[in-house]
Amino acid sequence: MAKYVGVTLSERIVAGLVVDHKVLGGLRSFPEAADDEYALVEMPTDQIVQTLCDEVMAVAGSEHKFAGVGVGLPGLIRNGVVEEAPNLPQLKGASVAEMLSAQLRERGIEAPVTLANDADGFAAGIAAARGKLDSIIRVWTLGMGIGFGRYPFTEGVWEGGHTAVTLDDKERFCGCGGRGHVEGIMGHRAMRLRFLDMEPDEVFEAAKQGDVRCLEFKKLWHKALAAATANSIHMTGAGKFFLAGFNVRFVDLPMLKDYLTQMVKMSPLQSYSVEIVEDDAETRVIGAAVSAEQAGR
Ligand SMILES: [Zn+2]
Repeated sequence: MAKYVGVTLSERIVAGLVVDHKVLGGLRSFPEAADDEYALVEMPTDQIVQTLCDEVMAVAGSEHKFAGVGVGLPGLIRNGVVEEAPNLPQLKGASVAEMLSAQLRERGIEAPVTLANDADGFAAGIAAARGKLDSIIRVWTLGMGIGFGRYPFTEGVWEGGHTAVTLDDKERFCGCGGRGHVEGIMGHRAMRLRFLDMEPDEVFEAAKQGDVRCLEFKKLWHKALAAATANSIHMTGAGKFFLAGFNVRFVDLPMLKDYLTQMVKMSPLQSYSVEIVEDDAETRVIGAAVSAEQAGR
């Protein structure tokens, strides 16, 4: 059975050898210590690629026989080139796929390298974990910002977190500066800007206690997610939606589903489902490997 190396590159590099959509022999992580989380941010692109190469070699073991490498990273990716990378801005414009395969070749390894958006990789990992590599999977990650990934892999842009979900001029908390975006309502950073006197946890707790302002916000938060999901359903069709990220703890599924029911009325589009899923490094690494596997077909 073909072996692939899956790698994710964000605050750290996480790599694993993937066989039959399972990680063989555990994951490797660079930097290993949590207090070194800025190590990559300060690294020039050449050195990042070098480190990627080291990690790939390390997980591949002594045999060095694998069919391809898949790298998932946050940003806009096109044809193996990083067009935009908000977390690692030095990568902007770099042909990471080409650079990494050249590095590997220097060390005697011929392996194609595939680059994918990490949120799409996550969607692919969820699909692989559930044996659903033949269906459309979409995933929202609710964290500092709002991520959106979809599977199957295709060329294109779907910055779902920046879906406009309100026409209210006052809605301008999105990290990108755009008005009315879902991230400007749901993102952790945006919530802190809105409630300068309360942490998001306190807001949702107060909503539970019946605080009117907080309860109104809780409704807005769920309406925003329902609206962005409904827009995606109307553009791409029904199917499975997953929710992940550290703020899924705020999700009230019945409330979300109630708003969705109000927003999606065409019966052929009503066969969608929403499910909360754990966001783990392993799923993302497997998804990155799936991108390499599918590129090789
Ligand atoms: Zn935005």
